[in-house]
Amino acid sequence: MAAPSARPRSAGSARPPVLRVRGPVLPGDDVSRDLYVVDGHVTYEPQPGAETVATGWVLPGLVDAHNHLGMEDHGAVDADEVERQALQDRDAGALLLRDCGSPADTRWVHEREDLPRLLRAGRHVARTRRYIRHYADEVEPVDLVPTVVEQARSGDGWVKLVGDWISREQGDLAPSFPASDFAAAIAAAHAEGARVTAHCFGRDVLDGLLDAGIDCIEHGTGLSTAHLERMVAAGTALVPTVMQTDKFPEFADAGRERFPAYAATMEDLHARRRETLLSAHEAGVALFVGSDGGGAQRHGHLAGEVMAMVEMGLPAADVVAAASWSARAWLGHPSGLEEGAPADLVVVERDPRRDPSVLWEPSRVVLRGRVVA
Ligand SMILES: [Zn+2]
Repeated sequence: MAAPSARPRSAGSARPPVLRVRGPVLPGDDVSRDLYVVDGHVTYEPQPGAETVATGWVLPGLVDAHNHLGMEDHGAVDADEVERQALQDRDAGALLLRDCGSPADTRWVHEREDLPRLLRAGRHVARTRRYIRHYADEVEPVDLVPTVVEQARSGDGWVKLVGDWISREQGDLAPSFPASDFAAAIAAAHAEGARVTAHCFGRDVLDGLLDAGIDCIEHGTGLSTAHLERMVAAGTALVPTVMQTDKFPEFADAGRERFPAYAATMEDLHARRRETLLSAHEAGVALFVGSDGGGAQRHGHLAGEVMAMVEMGLPAADVVAAASWSARAWLGHPSGLEEGAPADLVVVERDPRRDPSVLWEPSRVVLRGRVVA
């Protein structure tokens, strides 16, 4: 696959212009101040001659914590489509994407200054014939550890496991691998310096993964109160992907004829998902916001997931933090727009903590110190 040019397309002059953004800077401010952008970084030192590019509420660049750049329904897409997806996410203000598995080699995106920052998990690692076709490296238990090590080495610090999926033999959702194999795989990834996350819809897979010290759970509709307490104690994160779990009734309907037990499980998980999510928040689990762009959603829909989480009953201020500064810190990036921080920021017209729907329409997006939208 030919990658598009590594040269940033938006780079005009060698030095980007000095910019000024005026408004309350989140988190922290309630009153306006002037934020300047010089050579890609934030400063609060007044810059005579700076060009004012936006007025409004200023947030650190948004984070899509569950994204699949390079993937669509039938597998990998070509580089032009990867670029189109990345631009959709970027223009919606998502300036840091945590890839949760992609069949496409998207490493070239790192070379493009006009595309969002990307933390790749490499390919999903799944059990043979136990995931969506053409997405994953599908292996048997004997090959799990070497495959995870390979993905840990080719990714950007994360490995994605498919924790559970329908078992046609059992006719129901079931863990993809025995707990001892998951434990060996997670230990091997940690030894490579990578964190591990897993797709988990059901309950049965969770104890084994938490025992093994997994770093994050995706979806997490099967989490019990006991699991949530363990996650808080261990610092395990949850990315609930509410727009995705909305679709469980469709999955149940599609499987009902051949797999009635699976259909019943999916309906039960769906019925309990709101309570599960609110319990996770109340327990103090670190929650982040993932659109599942490229999987269950199109790209550029992070605001939809923010709204979906708020509509489930989570406080808007907490969801906005989870989509911006707290996610940046979790992923090892500068969390806020302090003096000297990289100028990745989004400007919106109203306080998003009071009206998160304003995130649908950022009035300005600045990435690496340049206005990109
Ligand atoms: Zn996904």
